[in-house]
Amino acid sequence: MRITRLSAYRVDLPLKEGSYKWSGGKAVNVFDSTIIRVDTDTGLTGWGEVCPLGPFYLPAYAAGVRSGLAELGPHLLGENALELGKLNRRMDAALKGHAYVKSGIDMACWDLLGKAANQPVCVLLGGRYGDDVGLYRAISQESPEQMAAKVAGYRAEGYRRFQLKVGGAADVDVERIKAVAAELRPGDRLVADANTGWLMHDALRVVKAVQDVDVYIEQPCLTYEECLTVRKHTDHPFVLDEVIDGMDVLLRGHADQAMDVVNIKISKFGGLTKAKQARDLCVSLGVAMTLEDSWGGDIVTAAISHLAHSTPTEFLFSSTDFNSYVTVDFADGAPKRQNGRLAASLAPGLGITPRMDVIGKPLVIVE
Ligand code: MG
Repeated sequence: MRITRLSAYRVDLPLKEGSYKWSGGKAVNVFDSTIIRVDTDTGLTGWGEVCPLGPFYLPAYAAGVRSGLAELGPHLLGENALELGKLNRRMDAALKGHAYVKSGIDMACWDLLGKAANQPVCVLLGGRYGDDVGLYRAISQESPEQMAAKVAGYRAEGYRRFQLKVGGAADVDVERIKAVAAELRPGDRLVADANTGWLMHDALRVVKAVQDVDVYIEQPCLTYEECLTVRKHTDHPFVLDEVIDGMDVLLRGHADQAMDVVNIKISKFGGLTKAKQARDLCVSLGVAMTLEDSWGGDIVTAAISHLAHSTPTEFLFSSTDFNSYVTVDFADGAPKRQNGRLAASLAPGLGITPRMDVIGKPLVIVE
């Protein structure tokens, strides 16, 4: 199955709540998402999606997905879309780094592999565990009172995992954690995600001030070394996210006992092939995971659902349903949250069909 054409479309995804805010005053109101289409000589078409969390979260930006496709695409014409290991090596040989550029292409080729095999992607990723997967709800950074007031509504939607956006002023963050923790019920879990926003002294003050709160601490500081220092001074369960972008740091983190949970985002690793490699390594090492992406709409949510649903249940700390945060639906068959949980499609491939009337005309075509 030879690749004959690669295309990139742009879809704007406004947020239902108006904006999403996290550490350091960073915020997004409308996500710029890129839909990747891979056509082949068999007539089968695969679909992927890449949506950075703005240009200031990871080293990735929305227009870069599209210019990256123009750069990388010519190297992939004529390649076998189903040979995902070879295809990833080809991408890495043709373009160093830029994992997020490769993510949508790899995702589209998994969609093709599923369609060719007549199997849902989750089966090909290892198997379908259980009926569905549990989701977390991110709570955008606001005042402690506003954040606490969101919990009941999100719980009514079925969420039992709450990821609090902290990483602001340490004293206010302590109040945010305490205010939200006061709203929790048995079975709920709370994560305070600083998204690299604290310096070490602030992080150490926060973890001490919330010593008696049942809360996970996620990515307090910018670097691995700073996070490891904070980790050594707290007995809160500890999550690493932004610094976990490859196998080497996963192995280092495991050797250093630097984390209890890692966050694996599909585009941070460069696609489902590499996210699966990281996921499987974590299962072998006994490390629980949040499996998701930086952001996205219907196709990213479908890809997340297949990765999460193919993960042994006890290793899946949480996952997410980004398509419920935004106002635009652009693919039929995309998974929808039910009672705070998500199930991967049973249809072949990712199980989605983009609505061309919504995604419009491609901005980039390589053929
Ligand atoms: Mg995080």
